[in-house]
Amino acid sequence: MTDYYATLGISKTATADEIKKAYRKNALKYHPDKNQGDPSAEKQFKQISEAYEVLSDPQKKQIYDQYGAEALQGNMGGGGYSSGGFSSMEEALRTFMGAFGGGGGGGGFESIFGFESSESSSAQQGSSKKMNLNISFEESIKGVEKEASITNYQTCDSCHGSGAASSSAIKKCTQCKGSGTVHQSRGFFSMSSPCPSCQGRGKTITDRCKGCLGQGRVKKKQTISIKVPAGIDNGMRMRMGGYGDAGIDGGPAGDLYIYVNVEPHPVFKRDGDNVIIELPISFTEAALGTKKEIPSPHGKSMKIEIPEGTQPGHTLRIRGKGAPNVHAQGIGDLLVHISVETPIRLSEKQKELLEKFSRLEVEDNSPRKKGFFDKVKAFFHA
Ligand SMILES: [Zn+2]
Ligand SMILES: [Zn+2]
Repeated sequence: MTDYYATLGISKTATADEIKKAYRKNALKYHPDKNQGDPSAEKQFKQISEAYEVLSDPQKKQIYDQYGAEALQGNMGGGGYSSGGFSSMEEALRTFMGAFGGGGGGGGFESIFGFESSESSSAQQGSSKKMNLNISFEESIKGVEKEASITNYQTCDSCHGSGAASSSAIKKCTQCKGSGTVHQSRGFFSMSSPCPSCQGRGKTITDRCKGCLGQGRVKKKQTISIKVPAGIDNGMRMRMGGYGDAGIDGGPAGDLYIYVNVEPHPVFKRDGDNVIIELPISFTEAALGTKKEIPSPHGKSMKIEIPEGTQPGHTLRIRGKGAPNVHAQGIGDLLVHISVETPIRLSEKQKELLEKFSRLEVEDNSPRKKGFFDKVKAFFHA
């Protein structure tokens, strides 16, 4: 016995909203993309889709509640539901992806699944597109305008998307009288499905547009200008609304998603809105203090002061000299990570001086060293 309620984990009294929620939750959980190579998840996903197909359709739900799944299957045999059911796993997936990814389109969740074909038109949103964009670190800080060429379906100029050679070539469909839906009686109930003569459009075209061969859109190459905002970081995604494929039958165009790749910089690294630079200094510079000229992410160099007694690993924070926030929420800091280099390849003269220095060293010169040995002493004499 097929129990569609159990498949979705809901009670027989669940509302339409609860059914939808349960479907979304389960479909996300068992989605094949998330469960690659797991045939049981794929099977589960199919069963969930089937359960939702029936329970989300008031007509089918009523039949199922009254007569069980067999009543539906018996009548589905042969032609099957022409409007609702998924003909294949691929179709189910495509529909699923569309429902969660694209959005927009002719209406809400159900209309994307085609269950309300009598109410929605055949308008479809165009596909969204993806592209990668490489920019330099400097460009990411300042912002940049880049040109790119994309190839998309665009609304046909000759027919403005209608697909007809002239407005008089568009005729109301005679089979469905313009509604786009036909009603069929099967046994004891009747069902509506998209009109096979006009594919649900409600109209037919007697003379097709030559420019697009009746498609209403044509593939075209286009040069676009991409405005990259200052402060964008590696891996961020930008959306250009309407720059995907043109829609079908008056549907809205898809979007263009731009994935930004910021080339690594030899000295600067991003950490959120902060910029990090590693600055190696000598041990005498660390001990005595010094001034250093360092590059700035904003182009010019700048002078910074290293105080005397600076320890290795210390970070100097220079406020407001990092990356601008991409949403224009202020500006980050420049973090200067200090590394102190122990000198190597000493000359005889240098060694002599350092030995002299070491004889003059006192405990107060190295408080951390003193603290450590105090602890060790306590340990040995405990
Ligand atoms: Zn055309
Ligand atoms: Zn028709």
